[in-house]
Amino acid sequence: MIIMVINSGSSSLKYKLFDMRRKLALAKGACERIGIDGVMKYQTHTGLKKETQLPLPDHKAALTAAIAQVTDSAYGVVRNINEIGAIGHRVGHGGVYFSDSTLIDDAVIMGIRKCIPLAPLHNPAALMGIEACRAVFCAGTPQVAVCDTAFHQTLPPRAYTYSLPRALCKKHGIRRYGFHGTSHKYVGQQAARLLGKPFEECNIISCHLGNGSSITAIERGKSIDNTMGITSLQGVVMGTRCGDIDPALPTFLMREEGMSADEVDRVLYTETGLLGLSGVSPDLRDIEISAAQGDADAQNAIDTLVYQVKKYIGAYLAVLGYADAIVFTAGIGENSAMIRLRTLGGLERLGILLDEEKNNAYAGQAADIAAAASAVRVYIIPTDEEWMIACDTERLTAGS
Ligand code: AMP
Repeated sequence: MIIMVINSGSSSLKYKLFDMRRKLALAKGACERIGIDGVMKYQTHTGLKKETQLPLPDHKAALTAAIAQVTDSAYGVVRNINEIGAIGHRVGHGGVYFSDSTLIDDAVIMGIRKCIPLAPLHNPAALMGIEACRAVFCAGTPQVAVCDTAFHQTLPPRAYTYSLPRALCKKHGIRRYGFHGTSHKYVGQQAARLLGKPFEECNIISCHLGNGSSITAIERGKSIDNTMGITSLQGVVMGTRCGDIDPALPTFLMREEGMSADEVDRVLYTETGLLGLSGVSPDLRDIEISAAQGDADAQNAIDTLVYQVKKYIGAYLAVLGYADAIVFTAGIGENSAMIRLRTLGGLERLGILLDEEKNNAYAGQAADIAAAASAVRVYIIPTDEEWMIACDTERLTAGS
């Protein structure tokens, strides 16, 4: 079966085409600047790359252009659109409506729509991708929604409740939802494979550290806590997002700086985090260079990130009682040996011992970087959210 995975943004549509039988990503592409002018990027598994400019007035036009690429007689990877058996969509927020991936029908579309107030940028974009597929693919092609929040629907009330008046919470759906669920579930399952145990028997702390970051406590294969909240601002410091701050700070800024609610949102989402702390860049690589040159703000940005990740690992260890493994994934988690070393440094008495040589020798494959004597395994596992979405899509559409 060939499955197309779609990640639709407000002005972009990224896709990846999988041959499930061969477990192979045949091609991937990105339609960018939709509604502005239009740029198409395309790459096949054989290494062929193309970049073209053509008008992309809307998501339907972008998807039509993407289908033209993957079916092109010269550089395509499938003969025609009918070879694509199903479509999997990344959906940002599933609220309380979706605790698993789900086949898309009108009721599911309504559910995604109901969550728009919780994800005003992401959910309308996902809906545009779904509508474009309905218009471009034949009616029988099944579509599946995979929500970033679904894996965290197992959080117990003590972890997801905010201590606000109950009536307000009920009225607006205010609670912790958690994010990066597809990634945490994927690396958690991979860690279970490495541990040689069923996922349902594993306690795992999963650290997804990238431009956006969150940490999950997984108890016996279920998410029981995640550092992100009702929005993706809460938790550890991120590229341009603030992570945990005193809840009175937004109103403080409104009063003292005369900012509007939208301005506060913009600052918290785009000017804080590693960028705000360092004044250099949201990208850890740039910050590492500045820190090495003696920049105190850059050094503090790294110290803050390390401190917060360490703090949550400690908190989740306490909540879980023990962990079989700690997993590092995403851009920073997979690539920064320094962040992993400093985060786990000093945790020896909690049974966490890193093998420094293995930590430094990581080469892009899933790896155990714990010392032989470590009671807790430490893994680096490259995340693959698109593959996870494709697998869920296959599971839900098999036989359809
Ligand atoms: P992601 O959102 O998962 O793509 O992660 C992006 C972030 O990963 C970037 O902003 C960088 O901060 C970080 N990153 C990627 N490669 C490296 C590296 N070699 N060393 C340190 N940080 C890295």
